[in-house]
Amino acid sequence: MKIIFASQNPNKVAEIRAKLSGYTIQGLDSMVFAQELEETGNTLKENAIQKARQVFAKTEENCFADDTGLEVEALNGEPGVYSARYAGGQKSSEDNMTLLLRNLAGKTNRTAQFKTVIALIWEGKEFFFEGICEGVITQSRSGAQGFGYDPIFKPSGYEHTFAEMDMTTKSRISHRGLAVDKLVNFLESRRK
Ligand code: IMP
Repeated sequence: MKIIFASQNPNKVAEIRAKLSGYTIQGLDSMVFAQELEETGNTLKENAIQKARQVFAKTEENCFADDTGLEVEALNGEPGVYSARYAGGQKSSEDNMTLLLRNLAGKTNRTAQFKTVIALIWEGKEFFFEGICEGVITQSRSGAQGFGYDPIFKPSGYEHTFAEMDMTTKSRISHRGLAVDKLVNFLESRRK
């Protein structure tokens, strides 16, 4: 069965495909309206459902969208919903990491968490799934895998940053992985 995933990020589409093996996951790369998707909410949940509703309006197909934020305790939860454009509208991961490390310079509390909200539109109804991964922001970058803030996020209980882990390990413990597990459980229970 096909489900549209409202994302143009090939890393994310691959991560989710690996977990949702019984379904055909179609990313947005091939869809002409992908560039126009608006994301103007004030919360992760608002953004996720806003993207899913836009895709549903265009396709009338089962679809889901996600939104993720990195919440840093010593920065009162920032960058949070603004994680993608923390250092500006160019949405550069390098610039975002540089700014975050600069804003945390000298701070001893490096506690942070990634949070993902997935909004699913299934047979016209809306459902939400959340995943959280706790950890710390490291002093500097380590690792070359993954994307976004991965080189500076070390999940609790691990000696390595996300960027030093293979995709399978990251996906087992990550915010998005946990949210996807809940989505998978839901879809498994609906499979006819
Ligand atoms: P989005 O909601 O997936 O667009 O992500 C918002 C911001 O968080 C972007 O800057 C992403 O690069 C970053 N981000 C999302 N997921 C991850 C992740 O798993 N690891 C590191 N950064 C992420």
